Amino acid sequence: MADYKAPLRDMRFVLNEVFEVAKLWADLPALAEVVDADTAAAILEEAGKVTGGVIAPLNRSGDEEGCQWKDGAVSTPAGFPEAYKTFAEGGWVGVGGDPVYGGMGMPKVISAQVEEMVNAANLSFGLYPMLTAGACLSLNAHASEELKEKYLPNMYAGVWAGSMCLTEPHAGTDLGIIRTKAEPQADGSYKITGTKIFITGGEHDLTENIIHLVLAKLPDAPAGPKGISLFLVPKFLVNEDGSLGARNPATCGSIEHKMGIQASATCVMNFDEAVGYIVGEPNKGLAAMFTMMNYERLGVGIQGLASGERSYQSAVEYARDRIQSRAPTGPVAKDKAADPIIVHPDVRRMLLTMKAANEGGRAFSSYVAMQLDTAKFSEDATVRKRAEEMVALLTPVAKAFLTDLGLETTVHGQQVFGGHGFIREWGQEQLVRDVRITQIYEGTNGIQALDLMGRKVVGSGGAFYKHFADEIKAFANGASADLAEFTEPLKAAIANLDELTAWVLDRAKNNPNEIGAASVEYLHVFGYTAYAYMWALMARAALGKEGQDDFYASKLGTARFYFARLLPRIHSLTASVKAGSESLYLLDAAQF
Ligand SMILES: Cc1cc2nc3c(=O)[nH]c(=O)nc-3n(C[C@H](O)[C@H](O)[C@H](O)COP(=O)(O)OP(=O)(O)OC[C@H]3O[C@@H](n4cnc5c(N)ncnc54)[C@H](O)[C@@H]3O)c2cc1C
Repeated sequence: MADYKAPLRDMRFVLNEVFEVAKLWADLPALAEVVDADTAAAILEEAGKVTGGVIAPLNRSGDEEGCQWKDGAVSTPAGFPEAYKTFAEGGWVGVGGDPVYGGMGMPKVISAQVEEMVNAANLSFGLYPMLTAGACLSLNAHASEELKEKYLPNMYAGVWAGSMCLTEPHAGTDLGIIRTKAEPQADGSYKITGTKIFITGGEHDLTENIIHLVLAKLPDAPAGPKGISLFLVPKFLVNEDGSLGARNPATCGSIEHKMGIQASATCVMNFDEAVGYIVGEPNKGLAAMFTMMNYERLGVGIQGLASGERSYQSAVEYARDRIQSRAPTGPVAKDKAADPIIVHPDVRRMLLTMKAANEGGRAFSSYVAMQLDTAKFSEDATVRKRAEEMVALLTPVAKAFLTDLGLETTVHGQQVFGGHGFIREWGQEQLVRDVRITQIYEGTNGIQALDLMGRKVVGSGGAFYKHFADEIKAFANGASADLAEFTEPLKAAIANLDELTAWVLDRAKNNPNEIGAASVEYLHVFGYTAYAYMWALMARAALGKEGQDDFYASKLGTARFYFARLLPRIHSLTASVKAGSESLYLLDAAQF
């Protein structure tokens, strides 16, 4: 497998030429103080070095060795603890963290690109800091000042890690039925009792302490999602002076044997009257957890993109190198027995699909990250509200569409290798195995689609959707004539999505099954249309610069491929949505 090289050129293009983020930062005082285009470039350059040089080389060995469980302790594969230390000492765990508690304070649009690099280098490794950063976000937004001061600095510093304990054996999607209990104690703490499963990084040897964020129910809690509270449960209790105290009975009963991400410890966690501290208000735990989830969900989407990028880098190198058959139009490498497979139309189709999906995904995830930054840092309440609604609308799309394409692209990358793609030593099959979980965890992609269609589109009466659609229309209508080859199909795509949205809103009034029947295909129509917007923006930034260097010519060629070959997928998806729910209910359960 090719070494991983962070796509710094494309990242800079997205930040500086497509979105001109420095202008956004200059308008947001909290960011203007900490970041400008030069700082951002330097940070990404350094991240490229640590991910390519330290983390990527552990990807395959980590997969082969996996995590090991013994007597409640979990060891990560050889090299992981040292690499994690290097990563933490570089400040990378706290790159987006609050500077008041020792974080670097970088905007999400920067930390998102760092996340892409880490996950492309090594998805299993990337999960440990990602969960920690997410836990910090929830604590920073909802915990008491005392908890923040006590826990955040060591978490940002990567000395302690975080985990997110939601799932129970009988409760995954439906967290309203969790059974873990929290008993209030006289000193204001709680005793937490219950079993959580599938907990990423619940136990490991990378850090001195692990801070679990645990969903549990108070004795008098109402039934369902409105009766869930959030607790901080440390592996080791922390003394007043900050030193580590007694071992809390929050222990790892076993780890799962999985299809992929072998170097990520997926733990069964037993809480046996473990000491915990409430985070936020009683019974408002799900809301507190959602602060973390919007960031995590974008992060999981980025894992899909990252896997596709890693796969693409290897596939391109292989396709230039591997010789088989002659080009349909006649020999190209006349001095060789056959031509490199990159001459074949089908190999080009696969590579270009990967490239268009990856670069479209990079632009889209950066765009969503900018909305998160605006929602967090803008001083204008109206601007903040619009950005929050855009985040709400686009987060399920980012999570599900980027990961669905992540699987498609890694399978293409594997296919480019032919039989070698199925053989472990080439690394492509690992990427397919590893990326598969991204469609499942952090809310399955089916649930993301329901969230988009049900809660965000129908739930807001179409208002959130209108923000996004109006922005695209304003761009397409105002663009110069030389962009017409991109903006005309973009206008048609948004008109199609408008019409489809109205169709589903209307049908949903009479039949409760219509939303669930439409949602996955609807999310895909939405995703392809959103990527068309990204590709039109990228084309605008590249047009006229083709002569300067190959980067721009390649960008425009890929934009043309996207509009010619990928955007038309919306037509068959639209037809599926419009077929409605009837055919899903022709069989009763016994007839399956
Ligand atoms: C490797 C790994 C790591 C994980 N890490 C963590 C972690 O760190 N912390 C944590 O708390 N959890 C974690 N999880 C759990 C993960 O988030 C859940 O597995 C996931 O949310 C799905 O829940 P479930 O497995 O119970 O599936 P179920 O909820 O049983 O769903 C089964 C199927 O039914 C569908 N379904 C369910 N309800 C509906 C509905 N209303 N409408 C339509 N379809 C529906 C789902 O989409 C899915 O296809 C992890 C899981 C794995 C495998």
